[in-house]
Amino acid sequence: MVQLLRKCRNCDLYTMQDTCPKCGGDAVSPHPAKFSMDDKYRKYKILMKRLAENKE
Ligand SMILES: [Zn+2]
Repeated sequence: MVQLLRKCRNCDLYTMQDTCPKCGGDAVSPHPAKFSMDDKYRKYKILMKRLAENKE
């Protein structure tokens, strides 16, 4: 169910739809295909940090 979570590239809203229900922007999966289920929580935090840095 975590894999279904998407994040809007415009307003950072989390949604399970392809498009953001708030602004209509693209909602993309925040994690890569090689994402491991075993340490998903730890990697998720690292990934979130990377996404935040990429925005700058
Ligand atoms: Zn949005």
